[in-house]
Amino acid sequence: MAAFFGAIADDFTGATDLAGLLARSGVRVSLRIGVPDTPAEDPAGFEVIAMKIRTNPVADAQAQAVKGLNWLREAGAQQFYWKYCSTFDSTAQGNIGPVAEAMMAQLDVQQTIYCPAFPENGRSIFMGNLFVGQQPLAESPMKDHPLTPMRDSNLMRLLEPQVTGKVGQISRLVVAKGAVAIREELAQLKAQGVAHVIVDAVADEDLGQIATACWDLGLMTGGSALAMPLPDIYRAAGHMGDQAEQVTYKTPDGRGLILSGSCSVMTQTQVQTYAKGHASYQLDPRDLLQTGVQPALDWLTGQDGAPLIYATAAPDAVRAIQAELGTEKAGEIVEDAMAVIAVAARDKGFTRLVVAGGETSGAVTQALGVQRLDVGPEVAPGVPWCFAQSAGVSIALALKSGNFGDPQFFATALTTLENL
Ligand code: ADP
Repeated sequence: MAAFFGAIADDFTGATDLAGLLARSGVRVSLRIGVPDTPAEDPAGFEVIAMKIRTNPVADAQAQAVKGLNWLREAGAQQFYWKYCSTFDSTAQGNIGPVAEAMMAQLDVQQTIYCPAFPENGRSIFMGNLFVGQQPLAESPMKDHPLTPMRDSNLMRLLEPQVTGKVGQISRLVVAKGAVAIREELAQLKAQGVAHVIVDAVADEDLGQIATACWDLGLMTGGSALAMPLPDIYRAAGHMGDQAEQVTYKTPDGRGLILSGSCSVMTQTQVQTYAKGHASYQLDPRDLLQTGVQPALDWLTGQDGAPLIYATAAPDAVRAIQAELGTEKAGEIVEDAMAVIAVAARDKGFTRLVVAGGETSGAVTQALGVQRLDVGPEVAPGVPWCFAQSAGVSIALALKSGNFGDPQFFATALTTLENL
């Protein structure tokens, strides 16, 4: 089997989000952690590569993206996707525009579209301006982001300094007329030499029309939501072949374990909720520094059911720990501990792991030696169960970024897997 669709995502949880939305349609989706060193042995129809290139130097981000693109082409992919955040997280230098241009050059594509809209999550674009809920992007909390503060809401103005080609726009008034009108407008813009087209979208129907108009552009760029209609569109166009069948996954034998290294508000609620009915153990980075993870592992050995190990703490407690150990050091201690615990737990028969936290998920997957995840059903929007091999053991992973999921997420995740 060869891949048909190949995507590059600029961060880990963004890749999981995209893979989960694609898998909603029942197609086979593989998520790779970084660009594999060897060609794909058994590519899925939909291949997604998770990268960490959102804020890298431009040339480095471009080089990594092109390497990924070449790997995807070798796996058979014919249509490509560049996935970034639905709040267009980037700096004045990039990397959204520069990576798109590098991919376009490599693919010999003259025009692409940009549509980060995600109506289900309140991200919409009107007249080229991006809204987060009811607020323009530049008035949303994204204005204060530590790495990529978004101080303008206008996507044309944000993209222009990032690219060398001409930037244009297709407004909602055209999008509302449907796919044929969008295609005609793209052709007109192309005749005027416009390479980069921002496309308005305020509802899922808009994304369906845009994807129908643009699925064969060679390269599309946007958030995860724009890619969601693509499997059905490819299917209708006869490109999916035997991949039209529903994929089924086997829940691995073994026990469940929750590892939470996220301190986001929703994770705190999830930890409190789960701890009420289940065995739980709190890690403190200061203790970890003294004693290592052995006390936690000893505790785990004595527990029944699906326990929870967490470093999650309230903002005041986290600030105190960070003041004592340094922010980076404290984070590193927790991530290292979670990584060691995950490996030891796998060896004790815990094969169903729910991990909370983007960075924490990265540390855990790396320690488990997971390079490929087969993406299954979602527990919550953007959080699918994934299936992988770790040192010859079949495991299932649900990797949740900070604010995803509802208060019952941990228990729901394990039940979802049980009932597959
Ligand atoms: P999120 O997805 O919520 O941002 P991450 O795992 O990406 O979660 O980031 C949380 C960071 O906070 C990690 O680096 C983690 O190691 C660190 N951390 C977790 N618990 C604590 C704690 N009690 N004190 C200090 N840092 C912590």
